[in-house]
Amino acid sequence: MELWFTEEHTENVRFSMKVDKQLYSGKSEFQRIDIFESVEFGRVMALDGYLMLTEKDEFIYHEMITHVPMCVHPNAKKVLVIGGGDGGTVRELLRYESIEHIDLVEIDEEVVEVSKKYLPQTACGLDNPKVHCHYEDGLRFIRRVENEYDVIIVDSTDPFGPGEGLFTKEFYGNCYKALHEDGIMVNQHESPFYDEDAYAMQRAHKRIKQSFPISKVYQLHIPTYPSGHWLFGFASKKYHPVNDADFDKWNKLGLKTKYYNTNLHKASFAMPNYVEEMLRDVES
Ligand code: SAM
Repeated sequence: MELWFTEEHTENVRFSMKVDKQLYSGKSEFQRIDIFESVEFGRVMALDGYLMLTEKDEFIYHEMITHVPMCVHPNAKKVLVIGGGDGGTVRELLRYESIEHIDLVEIDEEVVEVSKKYLPQTACGLDNPKVHCHYEDGLRFIRRVENEYDVIIVDSTDPFGPGEGLFTKEFYGNCYKALHEDGIMVNQHESPFYDEDAYAMQRAHKRIKQSFPISKVYQLHIPTYPSGHWLFGFASKKYHPVNDADFDKWNKLGLKTKYYNTNLHKASFAMPNYVEEMLRDVES
């Protein structure tokens, strides 16, 4: 008998992958958590039936959400990751010796525990002494923080369920307050392709633009995400994501990456015409 994991990308489009075996299935206080071994993509995490990451393509997401802000900020020492309980973003951040302190604010401790057990590829850095885990809602955590961080990475689920609050004007305004005067926020910014994702993307962009003087989006290709065409937001108090990036300095770090490079960094901020139009529609 064949076993398949299917995710509904829209009511008319489904994405399926053949499953070798289910490794974990549980329900936390916040969501259903599934880990399975797929034939094509290796181990997979799904939350409430939505694919979060696969062993085969997680490097794309975690490199692009980390190295773009880290290439732009000249001296990031203290970083906040909201969400990211699988540990992939923390793993990439720990490659920078300049970083002294990482706060990980993950609402669901079970995601961290399950990731440590079944996804060592992404969770490998979560016990590093530089990493401080806080198991609470990022929306609440950020309310009590001011002028604390150089970089905030919002590595969240989608704008419904526990992740809904991480796409609000209040949240973005509090992220602005929590950042130093030259701080940068990067966030999981949905996609321009399918209507529902595009609506969420435009709404997020409009709200971030209301809080940050510099607010851009950049694109990446994630084979297992709806349409594969995915966006991250780049919001900053001071630095432009391309003009102020010191690409030579980053290249001299000698970090080996599978997806990110400084040419791609520049190019990822160039948008297709239809996406530029979507962004303009909510900027005015
Ligand atoms: N990094 C993964 C990837 O490669 O796509 C996906 C993101 S990660 C699994 C999303 C995390 O955000 C989940 O662990 C979820 O529990 C967490 N999360 C959702 N809502 C949250 C909230 N309000 N505060 C903190 N963490 C939240």
